[in-house]
Amino acid sequence: MPKIDEPANFRDNLKPPPAASAIPLLEDWTATGGVAPFSQITAAHFQPAYAQALAEHATEVAAIAASAEPPTFANTIAALELSGRALERIDNVFHVLAGAHTNDALLEVERVMAPQIARHWNQIHTNAVLFRRIDAVMRTADSLDFDAEQRRVVERYHTSFRRAGAALDDAAKQRLATIIERLAALGTAFSQNVLADEQSFTLQLHGEAELAGLPDFIRQSLRSEATERGLDGFLVTLSRSTVEPFLQFSDRRDLREKVFRGFVMRGDNGGSTDNKAIIAEMVQLRAERAQLLGYADFAHYRLDDAMAKTPAAVRDLLDTVWRPARASALVDRDAMQALIQEDGGNFKLEPWDWRYYAEKLRRRVCDFDEAALKPYLALDRLIEAAFYTAGRLFGLTFTPRPDVPAWHPDVRVWQVSGADGREAGLFFGDYFARPSKRSGAWMTSLREQQKLAGEMTPFIVNVCNFAKAPAGEATLLSFEDARTLFHEFGHALHGLLSSVTYPMIAGTNVATDFVELPSQLFEHWLEQPELLRRFALHYRTGAPMPEQLLTRLLAARNFNKGFGTVEYIASAEVDLDLHALAPHGSQAIDPSAFEAASLARIGMPGEIVMRHRLPHFAHIFAGGGYAAGYYSYMWSEVLDADAFAAFEEAGDIFDPATAKRLRDCVYAAGNRQDPAEAYKAFRGRLPTPDALLRKRGFAIPAAAVN
Ligand SMILES: [Zn+2]
Repeated sequence: MPKIDEPANFRDNLKPPPAASAIPLLEDWTATGGVAPFSQITAAHFQPAYAQALAEHATEVAAIAASAEPPTFANTIAALELSGRALERIDNVFHVLAGAHTNDALLEVERVMAPQIARHWNQIHTNAVLFRRIDAVMRTADSLDFDAEQRRVVERYHTSFRRAGAALDDAAKQRLATIIERLAALGTAFSQNVLADEQSFTLQLHGEAELAGLPDFIRQSLRSEATERGLDGFLVTLSRSTVEPFLQFSDRRDLREKVFRGFVMRGDNGGSTDNKAIIAEMVQLRAERAQLLGYADFAHYRLDDAMAKTPAAVRDLLDTVWRPARASALVDRDAMQALIQEDGGNFKLEPWDWRYYAEKLRRRVCDFDEAALKPYLALDRLIEAAFYTAGRLFGLTFTPRPDVPAWHPDVRVWQVSGADGREAGLFFGDYFARPSKRSGAWMTSLREQQKLAGEMTPFIVNVCNFAKAPAGEATLLSFEDARTLFHEFGHALHGLLSSVTYPMIAGTNVATDFVELPSQLFEHWLEQPELLRRFALHYRTGAPMPEQLLTRLLAARNFNKGFGTVEYIASAEVDLDLHALAPHGSQAIDPSAFEAASLARIGMPGEIVMRHRLPHFAHIFAGGGYAAGYYSYMWSEVLDADAFAAFEEAGDIFDPATAKRLRDCVYAAGNRQDPAEAYKAFRGRLPTPDALLRKRGFAIPAAAVN
């Protein structure tokens, strides 16, 4: 494993655990404006801090359950909403570090704490006395004058307790508790295995022959990957923003295959980091859990509380998009095979060739070259572009706050202010890949917005994995990276603009298939000529992107869309198939065989691989976040394509009236309303998949036109 470059403060994990009085995690952080004093926090602080916070929360909840007063909103729901504050703060800090800047000591904390925390929450959610109180409050919700938000919060409490098993008998509860703890331990092991495989793969390149085809920007980032690890030459690692450009540009077919295999085999290499047995056990436990709760399978359980409601509704959408997407991918495949023959290549197109020949084909068909675009996509300009868009739509401004503590020197912090000039929160941007960071990109919170415990502004975090330029050089992004930046920033706005009273329904605490609406919708602004003309400036000269390049970029944006759609839908289908399994006794599934059978069922082209193969499909196994829910991106895309059309129809991409409705009904609304109702309030109706099919450049099937 490569050495992790830890700052000094994370190195003292060998000391005995500190006394509770000396743990900065348990202080109130007023000196740092409510932000954790990261430089004083060590891995050794977490276990004692967690122990104290868990005990505190358990005591608070026990007191609520044991109250002699008749149950009311205030003494039950609001009291629960106010409980567990220390636990939440510690958990938020821990999750930021565990994802964005981990080390062996933190990995150990994670292994120890994940099952304990799962047990803690499960005990609360299955507390029968507490559930009786919630149930009693729920019954009075209509007769007493609860406001709409309170009614929603009670309903959410009732639903989540019921779905957690609060109404089950003791034997079932006990089994459920065992399952949930085991799932938490397995989820942690799963993501740690993927991280270990990512860290252990490196391909060192030397000399022109091994660098053939790679443009300067890729060479630069490969060189800094090597330098960071104290190595010579150029280093290919398994972060997506290194792998994808390498596959796109490297002339060396043998090296492309090597990198590709490293990437798609993460978690599938046998030995101690192999995830297949973990997957088999998790799938089995989830199915059993769903059945204990009265559902046929985990997918039915999961979707019952989503906007989609049923697996059939999801299949419908996926099938509608799959057919034209696959057809379009096959046309591209044949064109690439012809290109190979034309070049005198005597081989069949393989998955490690797809991005490379797609790039060649794109250059020919669209006369568009990703390398020519890159100098115009400087990270700093694109951050400005995201801020500008948030300013035009929602009146937000962003001011650098280098004084606010953060967990790594590369993290940047901004103070966010609303249109009225009032402080609206803090935004943390952690953009660069490093060995201590998990792959992928995500949004998370150090503090969520709420008004119940006094006005609390949110502290929102974006984590990305962009390849960092060497010191003194501007970091340049691909258009895909830029899209990721806007995507995560859209999630950040959902957290930052949140304006509700109760933490339960704040910000991104919405249905999984609705949560991608604010993020994916925000991506649309990146593709607007108005924005690109202003921010896509050459990183050296500051000259705007030539109009011709801009036109070609926009014309080429649907190129190879069949491929992207196919690799995505394949992952969504396999996820759904896997979670449609009934509990299967002692007969463990074989994830490799299952994956292959599932892909055969949908007619997966052999030249394309799922976007996330099961052994590293963190969305569905590192925690349960997207289990039976990976389809959510496409479900939300139906909404975002249709939502952006509202701005187009208004004739102004910043139309103030549309932006205000969008803010009120979506970005600021948290989970105040049922998602379908929230969307209708914004748009006046529910969407159809037509706008999505148009956006992806696919023909709308005749049956779907109405
Ligand atoms: Zn997202």
